[in-house]
Amino acid sequence: MATPVQVEYKDASHTLHIVFDDDTQCALPTVHLRGYCPCARCQGHSAGPPSWIPVTSWRMATVEDVTPVGNYAMCIVWADGHDTGIYTFARLHELARTQDEIPESERVPEGK
Ligand SMILES: [Zn+2]
Repeated sequence: MATPVQVEYKDASHTLHIVFDDDTQCALPTVHLRGYCPCARCQGHSAGPPSWIPVTSWRMATVEDVTPVGNYAMCIVWADGHDTGIYTFARLHELARTQDEIPESERVPEGK
């Protein structure tokens, strides 16, 4: 599994740019990341694929900080104070693969 060597949040485009140590990189929309927040508070304890949590304001999708968790994951701190989402590198790869088709329901309402 490739490990991120550089993580940079781009405020203007609301994307998280990640460069992996195998020279691959991705630009993940933060709405997509937040909407699939993996924490128990967002996802409950049900098994199965993660469900979509509506992102209702840009504060929810603005990255305040990114901190490493061991050598397998990172924790994203969001501007609304939500900081319990631990994103494993495997999960980030998965999200990068599925970001191309972002449905209408994942868009943040205008002006929020
Ligand atoms: Zn969460």
